[in-house]
Amino acid sequence: MSQTGLSPLTDKFGRTVNYLRLSVTDRCDFRCIYCMSEDMTFLPRQQLLTLEEMAFLSQAFVELGVNKIRLTGGEPLVRKNIQSLISDLGSLDGLDELLLTTNGSQLEKMSPQLADAGVSRINISIDSLCPERFSAITRTGKLERVLAGIEAAQAAGIKRIKLNSVIVRGKNDDEIIPLVNFALEKGLDISFIEEMPMGDIGGRDRQRTMVTSEEIRDIIGTAYSLLPSAETSAGPSRYFRITDSHIADSDIRIGFISPHSHNFCDTCNRVRVTSEGRLLLCLGNENSVDLKAVIRRNPGDIDILKTTIVEAMAHKPERHYFYDDDKPQVVRFMNVTGG
Ligand code: SAM
Ligand code: SF4
Repeated sequence: MSQTGLSPLTDKFGRTVNYLRLSVTDRCDFRCIYCMSEDMTFLPRQQLLTLEEMAFLSQAFVELGVNKIRLTGGEPLVRKNIQSLISDLGSLDGLDELLLTTNGSQLEKMSPQLADAGVSRINISIDSLCPERFSAITRTGKLERVLAGIEAAQAAGIKRIKLNSVIVRGKNDDEIIPLVNFALEKGLDISFIEEMPMGDIGGRDRQRTMVTSEEIRDIIGTAYSLLPSAETSAGPSRYFRITDSHIADSDIRIGFISPHSHNFCDTCNRVRVTSEGRLLLCLGNENSVDLKAVIRRNPGDIDILKTTIVEAMAHKPERHYFYDDDKPQVVRFMNVTGG
């Protein structure tokens, strides 16, 4: 806390950042159609922060009041030796929650280690329950591995597991209710994410194929009664519970992440760091601060790093703008951004 009693990571709009989303790699074993183009060029490895630099940077954020870190990517579990970063973060004093967003492909073998290292919550992306379609959407993924990964995470005792689905019109918009049924059967929360125009994926007009949260909620409403839940996540998710009496023993939440149809920016509590160490103050803006340069110019100097992060807060924009005159504003791909 500063002398004013405000956290050092409070911006000029009075929002306090206590949540860091850290992209540990831009690489991935999948090529999901909404996230990447078919031919992706990934960053040369020497351009990435090392795992030690990521641990150092995380420590700086935690000393500044961040108590929640989510590892994401790209696919975080394909980064070599990622377990060592996870263990380092798991033992950081002041970090209350260590979270992970993954495509699930490596969870079958890695879940026990993740649970041991203190990963308390995992989000697993799954957009289809039909093997051929799953492979078409991810271009390279195998549904059976992800299903085995979900089971393994549950068996390892990870406390909170949530499914994430992106619905694309004409690709999987007929699987909304089957995905909810699957979540119910497994006893897992599920969130539907509106597709965001991040990066040039070629071919498809995302404004036409994006399915809004409202539409998805209406479709679920044809099968289930949904009641808004009082729980919020100080973020873009709005949660609902199913109230039908025949499934009264289920307490799963259905979330809607609606960057298009709802502006959640006034409660934004997060920043992102890309795998090459760019601090992004907002998902839907291009401004960034090069933390890698600061770390490499001043090895081991956590105070300079912390000062840079605090000063960067002045550049956190009031809100995101995904489109300007119908033209997508953000040229970064989601895998670079750290979804
Ligand atoms: N590879 C991991 C995974 O798929 O969960 C973590 C990184 S991925 C970029 C994080 C989340 O972003 C996933 O749930 C994915 O569905 C979502 N995502 C990717 N591209 C998106 C886009 N253009 N719009 C909305 N969500 C997107
Ligand atoms: Fe990989 Fe996740 Fe992007 Fe799919 S959404 S390509 S799994 S980073």
